[in-house]
Amino acid sequence: MLNPLVFAVVDWLTARLEKPEIASPAAATSEPIPTTDLQDHTILVGYGRVGSIVGDALHERNAPFLAVEASDDMVAKLKQRGIETLMGNAARASVLRATNPAAARSLVIAIPEAFEAGQIVEQARAANADIQIIARAHSDAEVDHLKGLGADIVIMGEREIARGMIEELDRRHAAVVTQHPPAAREDSAA
Ligand code: AMP
Repeated sequence: MLNPLVFAVVDWLTARLEKPEIASPAAATSEPIPTTDLQDHTILVGYGRVGSIVGDALHERNAPFLAVEASDDMVAKLKQRGIETLMGNAARASVLRATNPAAARSLVIAIPEAFEAGQIVEQARAANADIQIIARAHSDAEVDHLKGLGADIVIMGEREIARGMIEELDRRHAAVVTQHPPAAREDSAA
């Protein structure tokens, strides 16, 4: 039996996707959103804690990229910095189409919501069989979901945090062992 919470979440997401795009002047006047002129570019969805690190790295490398952000505050900041930015929900077909996924090299989906991320993966994969899709997830189930829809690589945030912690423990442990090597065991001396 399906959990009622699942229905509630799906209803909420459906309402969110169907909401008119008041934030975008083009959408407010029902005009199509102009498609970027970029080619062979990276589409970066979400410029929060994760996406901003990726975006800053792309910016430093002078790599052609386009950001898609749902927050108007962030869009204003990005535009001030001269970063080409599209405002809106990237899961909406009109918004994603304007990023020119057919001509893009890569798509980085740096948003925390796996249902929306899945919709973005599906649309981008349908537009371009060769686009490299890297997505963010927070559970093994989300990793499977996004890979099943066509993502090439899915990075699970919590696993990467754990990996960093283990590496740090190993590094510190190695330093302690080097400073204080364990005494030779008596039984191995025989
Ligand atoms: P964070 O979790 O801090 O990495 O932030 C996620 C960022 O992604 C926020 O700045 C959100 O405004 C943005 N975001 C979330 N969902 C979408 C979406 N569907 N389309 C575009 N931007 C989004």
